[in-house]
Amino acid sequence: MSQASPKYPRTTTNAGIPVESDEHSLTVGPDGPILLHDHYVVEKMAQFNRERVPERVVHAKGSGAYGFFQVTNDVSQFTKADLFQPGRRTEMLARFSTVAGEQGSPDTWRDPRGFALKFYTEQGNYDLVGNNTPVFFVRDTIKFQDFIRSQKRRPDNGLRDNDMQWDFWTLSPESAHQVTWLMGDRGIPKTYRHMNGYSSHTYMWINAGGERFWVKYHMKTDQGIDFLTQSEADELAGTDGDLHRRDLYDSIATGSAPSWTMHVQVMPFEDAADYRFNPFDLTKVWPHSDYPLIEVGRMTLDRNPEDYFVHIEQAAFEPSNMVPGIGPSPDKMLLGRIFSYPDTHRYRIGPNYMQLPPNRPQVQVNSYAKDGPMRFEPARVGAPYAPNSYGGPAADTAHFGEPASWHTAGELVREAYAPHREDDDFGQAGTMVRQVLDDAARDRLVSNISGHLKAGVSRPVLDRAVQYWRSVDKELGDRVGREVNGG
Ligand code: NDP
Repeated sequence: MSQASPKYPRTTTNAGIPVESDEHSLTVGPDGPILLHDHYVVEKMAQFNRERVPERVVHAKGSGAYGFFQVTNDVSQFTKADLFQPGRRTEMLARFSTVAGEQGSPDTWRDPRGFALKFYTEQGNYDLVGNNTPVFFVRDTIKFQDFIRSQKRRPDNGLRDNDMQWDFWTLSPESAHQVTWLMGDRGIPKTYRHMNGYSSHTYMWINAGGERFWVKYHMKTDQGIDFLTQSEADELAGTDGDLHRRDLYDSIATGSAPSWTMHVQVMPFEDAADYRFNPFDLTKVWPHSDYPLIEVGRMTLDRNPEDYFVHIEQAAFEPSNMVPGIGPSPDKMLLGRIFSYPDTHRYRIGPNYMQLPPNRPQVQVNSYAKDGPMRFEPARVGAPYAPNSYGGPAADTAHFGEPASWHTAGELVREAYAPHREDDDFGQAGTMVRQVLDDAARDRLVSNISGHLKAGVSRPVLDRAVQYWRSVDKELGDRVGREVNGG
């Protein structure tokens, strides 16, 4: 029986044709076989089989919302980027995520959180693709795939494996700073609203006079930092796996729009050469006492996506989207990500992913890109090549011809960064343990580390792990040793 009434719109096929029934396939008599020419039932089955796009290899489970960024301070002496000019307001999209878990994994597993931002600026999309930590596990992009595989699932039994994680970390001592973060309170935020975001990478800013600066971004939560203990998180993983997704959605739906205040640390261009730490090493922070935070503006998330798949699953963030006034730095992780992010989007959601609603720039696109699957924006180029004599776009080299750049020279080598005075793998992690954490936070750190080590880590990895923590802080390592060795 039809349910059609003035209250309901009528069901149609994907082609907009009114369908005959929502409930019954076309059959030969009520008990007879289903007919292949019931094109509507065929369409339903075929469409269903194709509902998924490949899951992101990392940051698979995420949540997001739209909002705006309002500049509150004058940083024009450091950058000419349109979105950071005084008084400017820019529409934006944010996506938060866990890293190693799959789409259906609990929000409260211990993991760094992705903090990806897309600003729809007057000069095209600007993406700032950070984490809730200011540092990372490795400093060279050649190790990223290995690192992620050590955190995901084993090839033989399909299980995650703490032994594999600690094996990689202890063989990669540059991970110590980030692992200290991960095992500390910030490793499980209370909600996405209660965490900071960091660019982690160093970027270049260029002002209207062509002067260059190095910057790091800090997005400080206006809701305050808060966290879950391991036992709270373990319980919630079983009872409320989508807690963080729901919290973000509900807080916006009920009118409590969360916000973050953006700050930057700015380093004069020339300081980089002999700063006490290598300023491009992603495993290091710039201490606030050397480069204090300068306020830039506030991001407010006030609009939920109307369709999760369309706006969040198909959202594509890429550190390669940098607008005039902003450029990369010699950070070897950033330079790798500039290739790999757009590459994964082309694979996951197709070469024309920039035309999808969350990714579409809010300025006219005059690109010479052409054709490909699912292309629906007509080219506006006169002729499909440049230069052309038929009114096609031409690069404005006079205004935008200067790339963000730095001087470099040398033989082609495969080597670590040239060391700066205070560079070592454990120093900043030790500073955090001794000077930032209080006694209660240190106790939780010992408990989190030893709990993780006791869950499946065996010798010799276990011994190396104790030594790794002794290198961060002797007392911390001794305490972890006593816990895991029962001494
Ligand atoms: P500061 O004392 O100026 O800064 C320490 C910072 O540590 C705080 O501002 C806060 O950053 C952050 N913090 C506080 N509690 C925790 C926690 N439980 N887990 C992780 N981070 C926490 O010192 P420095 O700038 O000299 O840095 C000292 C150490 O602090 C560094 O070695 C690094 O490990 C850590 N740190 C430094 C940051 C930086 O950019 N300089 C940023 C964050 C941590 P926030 O206000 O961003 O929350």
